[in-house]
Amino acid sequence: MSTYFQLPMDLANLPLDDIRAQALQCRRCHLCETRTQVVFGQGPVPCDIMLIGEGPGADEDAQGIPFVGRAGQLLTKILESVDIKRPTDIYIANTVKCRPPENRTPFPSEIEACADWLAAQIMHIQPRILLLAGTPALKSVLGDQLGPHDTITKVRGRWFKLTVPYMQEQLYVMPIFHPSYLLRNASRDVGSPKWQTWQDMKEVQGALNFIRKAKVEA
Ligand code: SF4
Repeated sequence: MSTYFQLPMDLANLPLDDIRAQALQCRRCHLCETRTQVVFGQGPVPCDIMLIGEGPGADEDAQGIPFVGRAGQLLTKILESVDIKRPTDIYIANTVKCRPPENRTPFPSEIEACADWLAAQIMHIQPRILLLAGTPALKSVLGDQLGPHDTITKVRGRWFKLTVPYMQEQLYVMPIFHPSYLLRNASRDVGSPKWQTWQDMKEVQGALNFIRKAKVEA
C-alpha cells in the first residue's frame, strides 16, 4: 500500500488543524528557503472528493491557497462545469506544499520529504474519489501500480481502485491532466487534452453523484 494511506506515527493522534500548524513551520526540504509561505490545502474535512496537484506556483505562494493562479482558475471552471464547487465540495492539495523555484517540477526527494503532510491530509479527509492532476501526483500515489509506459497521457481517465484503511469500499482514483498542461494545449477539438478532460470529469461527476445518492439512501 502506498505510504499515502497510513497516518505517520508522529502525527497519528493529532487533529488536522494541529498537523497543518506544524506543516506551516516545516523545514524538511530546501523548498522552505525560497517559499513565501506553506500552501497546505483547501476544502472541507472530511470530503468525498479530493484532488492532488503538483506544487504551488507564484500566486499560490503569495496567497497561501492552492490553485488560485491561471491554472487554478481553469481548474475551478472545470470543476464547476460538473457541479463541484470550491471550496465547499472538494479538498485540494499538492504533492509539495512549498513553491519550487521558477515553478520547476518538484524533485522526488522533495515529494518524499513532504509525503507525511499529504498522507495526513488523505487520512483525515478520507476521500472516496481521488483525482491526481499531472505526473508528480500520478507517480507519487500510484507509482507501484504503473507500468513503465503508463504516462499521464496513457492512464488519464482510467479508474484505479485501491484498498484503503479508512473505509470498507475501495477508493476510486483517477489521473487527469494538470490544468497548466491544458492552458498550453488550448484546442477543444474532439480528442484534444481539453476534450479528454471534459470526458474524464463527466465520469467523475457520475461517480460522485452515485456516492452522494448512496449516502442519502443509507
Ligand atoms: S515542500 Fe513540504 S517538506 Fe519541503 S519544506 Fe515545504 S512543507 Fe516541508
